[in-house]
Amino acid sequence: MPSDNKNCAVIGSGIAGIATAIRLAQKGYKVTVYEKNSSPGGKLTQIKINGYRFDFGPSLLTLPENIEELFTLCGKKTTDYFKYNLVNPGHRYFYEDGKIFSAYHPTDKFIEEAQLFFNEPTLSIRKYLNDSEKKYLLTKDMFLSKSLHKFRSYLSKASILSFLNFRKLESFKTLDKSHRRRFKNKKLIQYFNRFSTYNGSSPYRAPATLGLIPHLEIGLGVYYPEGGMYSITTALVKLANDMGVRFVFNQLVEEICITDRKVTGIKTSQGIYDYNLVISNMDVYYTYHKLLPFIKKPDRILNQEKSYSGIVFYWCINKSFPELALHNILWSEEYEKEFDVLVNKKLIYNDPTIYLNITSKQTSTDAPEGCENWFVMINAPHDTGQDWDKLVQDVRTNVITKINRILKTNIENFIEGEEITTPIVLQQKTLSAFGALYGNSSNSKFASFLRHPNFHSKIKGLYFSGGTVHPGGGIPLCLMSAKITSEIIGAA
Ligand code: FAD
Repeated sequence: MPSDNKNCAVIGSGIAGIATAIRLAQKGYKVTVYEKNSSPGGKLTQIKINGYRFDFGPSLLTLPENIEELFTLCGKKTTDYFKYNLVNPGHRYFYEDGKIFSAYHPTDKFIEEAQLFFNEPTLSIRKYLNDSEKKYLLTKDMFLSKSLHKFRSYLSKASILSFLNFRKLESFKTLDKSHRRRFKNKKLIQYFNRFSTYNGSSPYRAPATLGLIPHLEIGLGVYYPEGGMYSITTALVKLANDMGVRFVFNQLVEEICITDRKVTGIKTSQGIYDYNLVISNMDVYYTYHKLLPFIKKPDRILNQEKSYSGIVFYWCINKSFPELALHNILWSEEYEKEFDVLVNKKLIYNDPTIYLNITSKQTSTDAPEGCENWFVMINAPHDTGQDWDKLVQDVRTNVITKINRILKTNIENFIEGEEITTPIVLQQKTLSAFGALYGNSSNSKFASFLRHPNFHSKIKGLYFSGGTVHPGGGIPLCLMSAKITSEIIGAA
């Protein structure tokens, strides 16, 4: 039986909450996960509409080894729980002039296709992708796999090497500027610029350090879990259960109880429970504002600009489109304008880039025969009080017009069911502050240092894990966050 100081509560069953619970259970902790919703996963969940299945949020999986690591750690065989396959080409990109670019893995194949399509020298593309890999390896050792808020993190050989090579990260240049220096073709610049959207930032403001992301997709590959993205959640919950983690659903945590700068428990909608170790997987902004009202807030961190959000249309389409793949992009021709409207005006450009994900291309049971489940997503600002009904109405019209123009169809005739997620829905469903997808935005060069640490420096027993704290959002980083948090707890 674990002692009392090995008895802990995790608030929230997002991917990082579940992964933290697994890691702590593996270290011998008795873990209970409290979730306000009736099912686990947070943003990584699913919805069903009239015989169609949709992943609710995340659709793109890279670095699946972060998931595998959890099974290995627990002495289990991954394939007994979770299976995934490479998707190649990873994405198909559609342009207004009728051209289509397919982005392949691995790097050599990508370069061969890209050189022909964008008419840029092979050498420039190869140099860019080599630099992308270097950036990834440098940031992985320093910024992604350790706490930035513990002195010991800076003492390892890998960290020292990262600092010595800091210049290679191009932190003082924007991503767009770095791409313009390297390439002439506007379409190739736009292609590489888009990777900043993977953490909710603008290529015209975010540092060129984010140039590490193309390596993840092109160099290491895009993957798709059998049964859809939601199977990541179900597989990890099964593992957690097998490791003895207890899940309590439909229970909103209302307060983290603190006495004399020590955690003493949590207060939920159904009672008070004693714990001297609590890990919040809830958005850190709301953790302070809703659960820790009497604690001094780290305002500088909490009030950083938030990442943008999205509007998702889940459409049941009673037709099939052979020209489309699992991941498709329909480009806006005015990318800079699109981000200006999004980031500066907090609105949506009238010809936005459309991301179209169709999982029935991989899992035929996700839609009835001859039909497709379309997840249609547009970048949208986080909530600052916009008129969302009007915005959604306008966006829907613009998106349909663009799809009809590019795919030469009349898509409205084939939509036989629909649901819509807006920043407001996201906020209500997962308590994500302002409906932001990734917590604080990564537009600043100091963004890595302006995320909340994985622990509270003044309150004993209080820890944080998830997309709104270090090292950031997205499934791979959330899993790294869980690892960092559990390692800090283990070392405490
Ligand atoms: P969340 O998923 O935010 O979960 C937090 C959980 O805590 C929720 O279940 C919530 O109900 C619960 N909770 C909150 N407060 C309380 C409380 N007081 N009491 C009890 N329970 C509480 N990432 C990718 O890697 N690839 C993608 O393609 C991708 N696309 C995305 C598309 C969309 C539309 C969205 C919304 C996100 C996308 N992301 C993507 C980002 C990714 O989903 C998130 O970074 C990640 O899932 C966040 O996980 P988390 O562990 O931080 O917690």
